[in-house]
Amino acid sequence: MPRPISVRIHPEAVRHNLQLAARSAVGARVWAVVKANAYGHGIERIFPALADADGIALLDLDEAVRVRELGWSKPILLLEGVFDAADVATAVAHRLTVAVHCDEQLALLAAAQTTRPIDIQLKMNSGMNRLGYMPDAYRAAWERARAIPAIGAIGLMTHFANADDGAIDWQLDRFDAATADIPGERSLSNSAAVLWHPRAHRDWVRPGTILYGASPTGAARHIEGIGLRAAMTLSSRIIGVQTLAPQDTIGYGRTYAVEQPMRIGVVACGYADGYPRHAPTGTPIAVDGVRTRVVGRVSMDMLTVDLTPCPNAGIGSHVELWGETVKVDEVAEPSGTIGYELMCAVARRVPVEVDGHAAVRRESEEEVAA
Ligand SMILES: *Cc1c(COP(=O)(O)O)cnc(C)c1O
Repeated sequence: MPRPISVRIHPEAVRHNLQLAARSAVGARVWAVVKANAYGHGIERIFPALADADGIALLDLDEAVRVRELGWSKPILLLEGVFDAADVATAVAHRLTVAVHCDEQLALLAAAQTTRPIDIQLKMNSGMNRLGYMPDAYRAAWERARAIPAIGAIGLMTHFANADDGAIDWQLDRFDAATADIPGERSLSNSAAVLWHPRAHRDWVRPGTILYGASPTGAARHIEGIGLRAAMTLSSRIIGVQTLAPQDTIGYGRTYAVEQPMRIGVVACGYADGYPRHAPTGTPIAVDGVRTRVVGRVSMDMLTVDLTPCPNAGIGSHVELWGETVKVDEVAEPSGTIGYELMCAVARRVPVEVDGHAAVRRESEEEVAA
């Protein structure tokens, strides 16, 4: 029997969250962002739930091809664009829309021999200082792009540095000033701007993390009551129980000393499964549906929980590491990270289940793909 840990993916939650995102940005079309293999959920697993999206946005060319092969006929956006001439050929063959953020990419498109023009999203660096043309160089880049026969429609795109803490106007104003007399569809908003900055919605929005039910800020309280559903549940079982007396300590480093007599449960999940080693004592976790806390240090294959709130729990009891009862951000935040990272980092050794499908092991699945 395999260890009792598994991760379960809920495509219907993605469908629900996508609808919620679309309703938050009425009038805008939606690029569903599925980079990093759908934030760790698996593009194929959630693909049926994306049917109502207007486009799919991602980074890796092979993911884009997979999405076409799954039968997606609507637009696909490569968020970082192409890296070489072969990528351009693939983009043409699969009708991909490509971000263009530098002159080197324009040159690749200028050299392309194609009768079918490639739609692009010309990216402005409005202050994030990652990819894109500076505002004062943007109009000239747009003129150059317009003169390239291989380029079809030109969309206008930028990305916000801190849509999560409320301050986006400085970037929005720069973008608007530099694009005032340039025609074309605009795409600006990530999840945070979809939820909280209607001024930035424009023609196309690009929600990612909220499709999976995680918080754009990394704090679960910021999306409380919005109605997002967790698209991933990491669960396991209790495989050992200890009854401890005051002064007993738990685990490596003896970081936690028991004050009252306490039953603790040993859970088959550790950092080698993708649970953060930095999760401190007090991190929420649910046993048989009851919220309790992690105590002591997380080890490679196991962690320990306080069973005080669930006296009937014992070996075999169900444990939710994150999901609907304990939000992924509630684990991420005390661990010094964000739900995005935890969702992307579930280890390959953890078997994956999909609602409505038989269980599959991730490794064997990749063997099939290889
Ligand atoms: C990842 C990404 C998004 C989605 O961001 P979320 O915060 O997950 O909504 C949108 N646009 C670009 C360019 C991205 O790289």
